[in-house]
Amino acid sequence: MFKFDRKKMITAIIPFFILIISWILAMESIESLNKLNAVFMTLPYFLAVFALLLSVWFQHSRVFFAVYILFFTMCVVPSLTRLNHRALTNGISLVIPVAFILLAVMKERGITSKYGLMKGLFFSALIFFVLLDAGRKSPWLGKMKTANLIFKTSEELESISRWGVFLFICCLCILLTRLFIIGSDMDIAFVGASLGSFIILHFAGYQDVLSIFYSAVFLIFIIALFQTSYSLAFHDTLTGVLSRQALEREILQLGNKYAVAMVDIDHFKRVNDKYGHNVGDDVLKMVASMIKKNVVGGKIFRYGGEEFVIIFSRKSVEDVLDVMEQLRIMIGKRPFVIRSPNRPGKKPRNRDHLEASTDKIRVTVSIGIAEKSEKLHTGHAVIEAADKALYRAKRNGRNCVVC
Ligand code: GH3
Ligand code: MG
Ligand code: MG
Repeated sequence: MFKFDRKKMITAIIPFFILIISWILAMESIESLNKLNAVFMTLPYFLAVFALLLSVWFQHSRVFFAVYILFFTMCVVPSLTRLNHRALTNGISLVIPVAFILLAVMKERGITSKYGLMKGLFFSALIFFVLLDAGRKSPWLGKMKTANLIFKTSEELESISRWGVFLFICCLCILLTRLFIIGSDMDIAFVGASLGSFIILHFAGYQDVLSIFYSAVFLIFIIALFQTSYSLAFHDTLTGVLSRQALEREILQLGNKYAVAMVDIDHFKRVNDKYGHNVGDDVLKMVASMIKKNVVGGKIFRYGGEEFVIIFSRKSVEDVLDVMEQLRIMIGKRPFVIRSPNRPGKKPRNRDHLEASTDKIRVTVSIGIAEKSEKLHTGHAVIEAADKALYRAKRNGRNCVVC
């Protein structure tokens, strides 16, 4: 889910900041008829190749195919002067939003997999049909009605097909829905890129303006690819909390006052042994989400297997004791409902049946807490002290908080 924290807000601003700067540059180049120099004109080609290589490297098929289509429209279309220009623009105004919609709803399964190659073939076929139609004497795409421009910045601004506008609006709605459900950096980038592509289609006659906006869109993708890989390195993929690597970095920037809590699921091995590793994973995710929901003001890290570390800046043991006690009680009370392995394929209508096909697991946690003091003056020392307190909690019979 999209969360409006400070980092996400900055991430969300980047694509729109790039587009606004591009708009200012583009308007200036139109007004002063100031032709951009050769270096600037080759920039979008350089950025597109860089984005393609990065997406292959990170195995991000969604970006790869989006850049592939935009790169194609940028390179091939202006050089095909024999084709019907209106049909080409109309065709591209359909292909881009359709591709963005499909990429938003389809699963990410790599570029070189069978699934990825099929996607590539399908998008190539779409482009091929546009070229084929634009090469005919009386192209079908050329006859499409065009939408009225809302505001004119230049006399020769092109309007795009009504279907194109409709598909771009659908595309934006789907991308925004995806953004609010998943909330990844890449979803923000796709919203920015689809707006950028929409602008691009209106400036088909201005080579320098196109250069600016294509560069902007490719830059948005490149930044999002780096953000995604950075976020993958610092987040635990199973539970979504921060990773051990992120904890090491956090330790370097701890202040003068902080408390550390270490949470460990009791007898977790038994859950795995009884219900299997997959159910164990689900329980881990649920415990992590309960910690996220109930611990306010603490940074949560997955320390190892079924252990979590929470760092509370500017807090003492006394400040956090109550919060951790409440968390312990809440986890102990909450039954984790799992569907048993011999459940029926379909969801049963009868409630009794439902009860019989589900299992309730109750897990408890033990918690150790420590704080920075004169004796414990490094992050590692405080974490070690919290670990020792956790060990005492286990010896005390588990399901308790010890400091
Ligand atoms: P204690 O109350 O003393 O903490 O007992 P425990 O069984 O929780 O602790 P122990 O260290 O003996 O076992 C931890 C288990 O956690 C062993 C390992 O199989 C399991 N585990 C570690 N990481 C994962 C994971 O990512 N997924 C699943 N399902 N299990 C994991
Ligand atoms: Mg344990
Ligand atoms: Mg453990």
